[in-house]
Amino acid sequence: MEKAANVTGSDHAVLQVCETLSTPIWVFDFDSTSVIWANDAALTLWGADNCADLASRDMFADTSPTVVQHLQNIRKHIHNGDRHSERWTLYPQGQPRHCFLEYRAINLDNSHDAMLVECTGQDLCSDNDTLRSTEALRHTSLMIGLYDNDYNLLYCNPAARPMLQDNTTNLRDRFANPSDWYHMLSEIKQSDQFVMEAFVNTATGSRWHKMHFQHSRDAVTGKWSLLVSESDVTQLHDAEREGYRLARTDSLTGFANRLYLQEKLQYMSANSDVRAGVIYIDLDRFKNINDSLGHSTGDQLLVSVARSIRQCTGNNATLVRLGGDEFLIMLEPVKNYEPLVELSNRIIEKLATPLLINNTPLRVTPSIGICIYPDDANSAESLLQHADIAMYRSKSEGGNQYHIFTDLMRKDVQDRLQIEQELSSAIEQQQFTLHYQARYSNDGTTIIGAEGLIRWNHPENGLLFPDSFISLAEETGLMDELGEWVLQEGAMQAAKWFREGRNLSVSINLSPRQFASSDFASKVEEVLRKTGCPPGLLELEITESMLINDIPHVAEILRNLHHLGVRTAIDDFGTGYSNLYHLQSLDIDCLKIDKAFVQSIDKPAILQMILSLGKMLKMNIVAEGIETPKQLDWLQRNGCHEFQGFYLAKPMDSSRFEALLNQTQRPATAPATKSTEANLACA
Ligand code: C2E
Ligand code: CA
Ligand code: CA
Repeated sequence: MEKAANVTGSDHAVLQVCETLSTPIWVFDFDSTSVIWANDAALTLWGADNCADLASRDMFADTSPTVVQHLQNIRKHIHNGDRHSERWTLYPQGQPRHCFLEYRAINLDNSHDAMLVECTGQDLCSDNDTLRSTEALRHTSLMIGLYDNDYNLLYCNPAARPMLQDNTTNLRDRFANPSDWYHMLSEIKQSDQFVMEAFVNTATGSRWHKMHFQHSRDAVTGKWSLLVSESDVTQLHDAEREGYRLARTDSLTGFANRLYLQEKLQYMSANSDVRAGVIYIDLDRFKNINDSLGHSTGDQLLVSVARSIRQCTGNNATLVRLGGDEFLIMLEPVKNYEPLVELSNRIIEKLATPLLINNTPLRVTPSIGICIYPDDANSAESLLQHADIAMYRSKSEGGNQYHIFTDLMRKDVQDRLQIEQELSSAIEQQQFTLHYQARYSNDGTTIIGAEGLIRWNHPENGLLFPDSFISLAEETGLMDELGEWVLQEGAMQAAKWFREGRNLSVSINLSPRQFASSDFASKVEEVLRKTGCPPGLLELEITESMLINDIPHVAEILRNLHHLGVRTAIDDFGTGYSNLYHLQSLDIDCLKIDKAFVQSIDKPAILQMILSLGKMLKMNIVAEGIETPKQLDWLQRNGCHEFQGFYLAKPMDSSRFEALLNQTQRPATAPATKSTEANLACA
């Protein structure tokens, strides 16, 4: 019998004994994964001529990863001095031999890791099914364990062994979260099998396992047992968790998103002891930044704002970006408004310092709404609504402030909602009418035109002024229809007066949307044709804000109107941000000085400047809002061309206006109020 050269060392004597034994014994080298020594009986078992022949065989050819892992496990165990025995199916030259093997560590000189394997039984008789199932159990990557009535481990397959912690023999100790253990217990009591994903303790740390529990019997004792098959789903679980997290995160700011908030609100509704404070933030005029500096700058600004908000809040605040420039902060629990107000002030203060975006300092201000659940809202849905209402109040009062929700605010909103609904039917029901305010020539007595001002004859609330419904009509899109009606009505009136021999121009106020529509000039042309209004008797008033964006488009509309012969005026001049350079190049006939300047006649610097500017640009200058003889006198002396104001004439319905025209004298009344206008109109 030849010996492999390197099989020497302290256990050499053992091999000498083994050589004489009739049971097959061999030495397996873990490092070279080959058999490096075998006795004669083993050579026969393996069908090898000699040790060298056996040593040259690749023992791991066609071996499943589970078995490789299992061998590593055996390697570890026998090193601890353990003996190990189990059934194996060997395949000498491809033929299955069913053996019972025992292993123990052996010391070799070359410091290789090796084990002595003894085959204590061969060709154990088992039926084919048993043989196959034993093999399947050995090779499967599914980790299978059998536990007794007290949940102590009875058996586990090779795949399960490396995963089990050395000292873990009880199933209970395998659960990282005790609640999972109790959950499993209660489920498995009720049914025959149960599947769950649980965080389990393993030899390589805590992992997520998908575990299948099944009642069964121990084949040896016949007693009740629990069969557990498990697979490691940590990767999948992590990917799912990451997917879940991403679906609830705003990718731009890293804040939570609307979906997250919805789920949180649902949770709040279901739990009665929740008290949460909400701060709803909307940035003021953020659209302007997006429009003028581009979306990329807008996005960077949002990220910076989010960072500023984060710096103001503590760690226990929930930060949400609802979308666009809307953010929400939730604080829980809160006792009162104090922490919410404090935080709102901190945010307002923080944002007062411009944020540096691409080296450009940009300043955004927040409009903030505050509300507490359940004090201000009894449902999750109304909580957001009410915070939004409070925010809207801040916005409508100029922004950069906070408001705490009150019931009165909600009533205002409800009123607005009602008006909104009524507005849509009011046009059909002909509830609108135009009042006319006279425009006087420089002599202060001759009426040369009128401004058409819309009024709503509300069936219940009486005569309504435009400031109570125009902005609403703009927001809801009804202004298109309403604006068309005003234009038509005004042109019709001018045409009627013209037919009656009066050369009176009628001024009409345009809404931004109306003016921006691409076919606006052709609409005007159509109205002129239909009504027979001479183009020169129609004047269209636009505000400075309509001149800011898309100058080429605006210039074209003004040019087309000019070609039609229709006159144009800039209303409320001096309150906006007109670009004086553009002003000289646009086809505009008239500047209407805002009443604020007229009414501060004691500080006439701006008035004087607007008058000189208008004259330089060769425009007709109209002063609005004249309320006193002193104002009229000053304007007359300083060369203003035309006048309009309560001191001269209030807006009035067309029949009263005609009566006024028939009087040659101007009415020497004191300035009227809006309510007197209402009385007049109804009279
Ligand atoms: P506006 O174009 O500046 O119209 C002048 C406003 O000043 C009118 O208010 C008028 O009644 C008021 N007013 C006239 N003289 C005096 C005065 O001496 N003192 C004071 N304090 N006020 C005076 P009104 O009719 O309430 O209209 C308010 C605004 O609603 C208008 O301001 C205009 O911007 C808008 N508006 C009115 N009618 C229409 C319309 O048909 N279409 C559109 N888009 N807007 C309209
Ligand atoms: Ca006007
Ligand atoms: Ca005006």
